[in-house]
Amino acid sequence: MRTLIAGNWKMNGSRAMLAELDRIAEAASAYSDVDVAIAPPFTLLGEAQPHAGRVWIGGQDCHRAAQGAHTGCISAGMLVEMGARFVICGHSERRAEFGETDPLIRAKAEAAQAAGLIAIVCIGEDEHERDEGRAVEVVACELDGSVPPASTPENLVVSYEPAWAIGTGRIPTFDQICEIHSMIRAKLIQLFGEAGVRIRILYGGSVNAGNAASILACPHVNGALIGGASLTADQFVPIVEIAANVSQ
Ligand code: PEP
Repeated sequence: MRTLIAGNWKMNGSRAMLAELDRIAEAASAYSDVDVAIAPPFTLLGEAQPHAGRVWIGGQDCHRAAQGAHTGCISAGMLVEMGARFVICGHSERRAEFGETDPLIRAKAEAAQAAGLIAIVCIGEDEHERDEGRAVEVVACELDGSVPPASTPENLVVSYEPAWAIGTGRIPTFDQICEIHSMIRAKLIQLFGEAGVRIRILYGGSVNAGNAASILACPHVNGALIGGASLTADQFVPIVEIAANVSQ
């Protein structure tokens, strides 16, 4: 399975940051065995496209509807028109800040897939749930609730992102990552049969060049979703390089 290294710029980035994308695209062209993706803010999507080379450009969210009276929202079709190849659905910041629920996230992912996008569906426990020993249960439940039942390996990526590891510099142990990713794989096979083997499962949460090799070596970790370390080529490109070595 091809490794996917995806960056999420969140609400960061101005036109000047497209220079970072130029450097990321240049590096990505040297590592053609790895899929590389960047989700800039919506405002940069159209402008990012000519800088992207073989880097996939995508959105950080979309609305569940195709169009209509939804002030301030963006539809999956609008993302496609801007050259997007994927969209992140249900990032923990959207779950926490905007109260997004599993059924809503599933509807967004379905809208994304219907428009021809890859939906990167994020699931993950918070710190309280981890401390209570409920991480596996919570992640399994989010997977059941937010992954569209008609997904395929071509239009779905699942990203395990423990909320307590996002932007904190803390990461789960190798065993904890293995435990969750193995459970996700088993559930994907249960849901999708043989196709479940081919759906990529990313890990996200404080990935950097120092820890990427050990994270990407975990069984059933097929790539990473990266926030902070995707904002500069200096931090992001070494992770792509590591992914290329791991996937050899
Ligand atoms: C994220 O927001 O998806 C993320 C993984 O962030 P960071 O890499 O900064 O922890």
